[in-house]
Amino acid sequence: MIQIAIDGPSGAGKSTLAKILAAKLGFIYVDTGALYRSIGLYMETNGIDPKDSEAVVASLPKITLALEYHEGSQVVLLNGENVGERIRTPQISMYASAVSAIPAVRAFLLDTQRDIAAKNNVIMDGRDIGTVILPNADVKIFLVSSFETRARRRVKELLEKGIEASYEEVLADMIERDKNDSSRAVAPLVPAEDAVHLDNSELTLEGTVDAALAIIREKCAL
Ligand code: C5P
Repeated sequence: MIQIAIDGPSGAGKSTLAKILAAKLGFIYVDTGALYRSIGLYMETNGIDPKDSEAVVASLPKITLALEYHEGSQVVLLNGENVGERIRTPQISMYASAVSAIPAVRAFLLDTQRDIAAKNNVIMDGRDIGTVILPNADVKIFLVSSFETRARRRVKELLEKGIEASYEEVLADMIERDKNDSSRAVAPLVPAEDAVHLDNSELTLEGTVDAALAIIREKCAL
C-alpha cells in the first residue's frame, strides 16, 4: 500500500490539495481532522468542557467512530450517525483543538487511522501523520502558507458553507489553534525530519497541485 502524508497548520489548504491528489491518483483521502472534530462535537452535544481532560477521557468509552466512503467522499459516523457539516463550525474547531491535546484522545484515534492506511492507498492529512501515525509513509509533505493567506481562504470556505465569520475572528482563532497545536506535549505540529516543505502562499491551487505531484513522483513510481 502507498501512504502519502500531508501535515501542516490549519488553513494551509491540506484538505483541498489532498482531495485533488486523491482523485488524480485514485487513492482514498483521509481527513483526520474530522475525527478530532467529531470527538469535539460529542463533547459539545453532551455539555462536556473540552479542556476538562478527566471528563473527556471518561466519556471516550461511550464513543464509537467509523469512517465510510460515499461516492469517494469521507463520511464520519459518530455513534452510528453521520456528523455531516456540524463538525465544521468555528466553535467545533476550538473544541477539536482542545480535545486533540489530550493524549488519551490521540491514542483512541490511532488505530482508526492506521487501519485505513493498512488496507488502502491513502493520502492522509493532519498534524502528526508523518511523525506519529504513519512514520514510514512513502511521501511526507509539510504544507505551509502565511497567516493572512490561510485566514482569507478559511473565511471564503466557511462562507461557501453558509457559515458567517469575520476575517479578524478567523485569524485570531487560527493563531490560537496554531499555538495550541504546536505547543502541546503529545504529537505537536512539527514537520517530520524527512518531510518535504511546500509553501503555497504565492502559489495558485493548480501550482500547488503540480508542486505536490512533482514531490510525489520523485519519491514513488506513480
Ligand atoms: O484539520 P482540521 O482543522 O480539521 O483539524 C481540527 C483540529 O484537530 C486541529 O486544530 C488540531 O488541533 C486537531 N488535529 C490534530 N491532529 C490531526 C488532525 C487534526 O491534532 N492529525
